[in-house]
Amino acid sequence: MKRFIQLVAIIMALLVPQSINARTGVIYGSGASDFSVETNGDAQQVKLRIYKDGMGGKPIKTVNMKRNEKAGELLWQATVKGDLKGKFYTFDVKYNGKFYGECPGVWATAVGVNGKRGAIVDMGGTNPQGWANDRRPAIEAKDLIIYEMHHRDFSIDPSSGIEHKGKFLALTEPRAIKHLTKLGVNAVHILPSFDYASVDETRLDEPQYNWGYDPVNYNVPEGGYSTDPYRPEVRIKEFKQMVQALHRAGIKVILDVVYNHTWNIDGSNFQRTRPDYFYRKNADGTYSNGSGCGNETASEREAMRRYMIESVQYWVDEYHIDGFRFDLMGVHDIETMNAIRTSVPNDIFIYGEGWSAGSCAYSGELAMKANINKMLGIAAFSDEIRDALRGPWDSNSKAAFLGGVKGNEESLKFGIVGAIQHPDIDYSKVNYSKAPFATEPTQMIAYVSCHDDMCLVDRLRASVKGITTEELIRLDLLAQTAVMTSQGVPFMLSGEEMLRDKKGVHNSYESPDSINHLDWGNLERYPQVMDYYKNLIALRKAHPAFHMGSAALVRENLSFLPVENCLVAFHINGRGVPGEQWGDIYVAFNTHKRARSIEIPEGTYTVVCRNIACDPDGITTVKGGKVTIPAQSALILHN
Ligand code: CA
Repeated sequence: MKRFIQLVAIIMALLVPQSINARTGVIYGSGASDFSVETNGDAQQVKLRIYKDGMGGKPIKTVNMKRNEKAGELLWQATVKGDLKGKFYTFDVKYNGKFYGECPGVWATAVGVNGKRGAIVDMGGTNPQGWANDRRPAIEAKDLIIYEMHHRDFSIDPSSGIEHKGKFLALTEPRAIKHLTKLGVNAVHILPSFDYASVDETRLDEPQYNWGYDPVNYNVPEGGYSTDPYRPEVRIKEFKQMVQALHRAGIKVILDVVYNHTWNIDGSNFQRTRPDYFYRKNADGTYSNGSGCGNETASEREAMRRYMIESVQYWVDEYHIDGFRFDLMGVHDIETMNAIRTSVPNDIFIYGEGWSAGSCAYSGELAMKANINKMLGIAAFSDEIRDALRGPWDSNSKAAFLGGVKGNEESLKFGIVGAIQHPDIDYSKVNYSKAPFATEPTQMIAYVSCHDDMCLVDRLRASVKGITTEELIRLDLLAQTAVMTSQGVPFMLSGEEMLRDKKGVHNSYESPDSINHLDWGNLERYPQVMDYYKNLIALRKAHPAFHMGSAALVRENLSFLPVENCLVAFHINGRGVPGEQWGDIYVAFNTHKRARSIEIPEGTYTVVCRNIACDPDGITTVKGGKVTIPAQSALILHN
């Protein structure tokens, strides 16, 4: 009887329709390639076309795909015999008697120029030499120092001295790697690097610029950053070379992912294969626009959730990606974000914008900043510390703490502890969150500037009346000292170390290179800025006191001195922090235009940060008691 039951169970398992958990698209084989595409249940016909090129020309083969009844009638499949390596393909799905248009499907892992057709590539052949030995650098979340960069900003200017300007390969060059390692960052967060629409890959000889928040093919590197977008394997290999070079230098690679919306609705791969499935709609039937980009995806739907999970896993597996920054994470639901968290290894760092850009057509809980405590292992950007320092997001000309505006002290403190519960903070006076949003400090990204809004230099110029270059540098360094001594995960915009500006442009998503480029000449013009940044980062890295990584440790060992207007100071008991060599550590920020002082216990202290100098080995010593903080600067000392 027992054996009979086992037999029945085996037969049942064979008869029950398999769930669709395999990625669709194409699986290449030298003798035959298997194609599959997932549709809505009412799809009537699916045509697969094979082409010689990534654009133009007539199909060399057209195949009617077959519905896979076992897979719940959503999956259509075809096997095409022969070696199709180097060929291209499209799917065309028919609903209500009408074909919705050719597209590569949602799961192309290689495409032709501008991503219009899928490409048949032997993925094994895209691995650079030594790829099998490539490993993600072992860096814990609490130890990360993130550098947010756009490929073109970083290297396009002749002053960069980089050969492959605006390309993935730029980050394989010694000049680039040396700069990053000298600065000391250990993670680069690259702006959208999947295939996006707004740069025409057939016109790369002309200057074109876009941030790339307009996704087309989520699982393929962008062709505009490759040396040849027509040859599908080139961008894949070059992307891997970039990852490999950064990993060799001990630098993690974090991908900016934009699952919350697509470039368009009508022509999108989502819409052409599964009309109206992937997008949220309002009660009146119109498309919801929580992304502010004309549409919003529906992460709560089974196939969209599965898609996001598998896409993230794919980037980890195929490209050895170390982390993900979710654009408008607040458009996604909590369950999806938590499912993504548990679907990838623990060392994959996940963070996002804990907000949306409009109201979302979803009644459940969204992955907003206020819900971060329900998403362990996921972090959100803190606009509290950002705006406490530079000023509110809705006005470029308004200053805050940096500009000597009082009332931002508690918001800055909130950012210093990493958005956790802390007895010294009066949450009623925090600018946005009236309660801690993080359970652990590594759930908060500390920053003062990013690609959005004005960069730090422009913001200081726009908001601090009559600011001199000297003051600008002082306040810039003070701002980053707050970021780098925050218990959250520090994050900086590429080029701040070069005192970059964007000529006052606050939304440079399609501005020319003359606005967005880094001017590497500034490294010689303002050497004190790079010096300070690198020493400040070295100081953070060498001292666990500045990145304890645990809310309990922060509450135990970090306490604030009495707050005064435009003066925030705190004490860390280094003896209570595992691995910390320093005893009492004091950090103070003074944005008054004159020196102020704080009271600390008697004793002899080593100053490691004062005025515009930072040196982890010590600048000078001072006696305790009344200690002076020079105007518009940070002070760090220890015993
Ligand atoms: Ca593209």
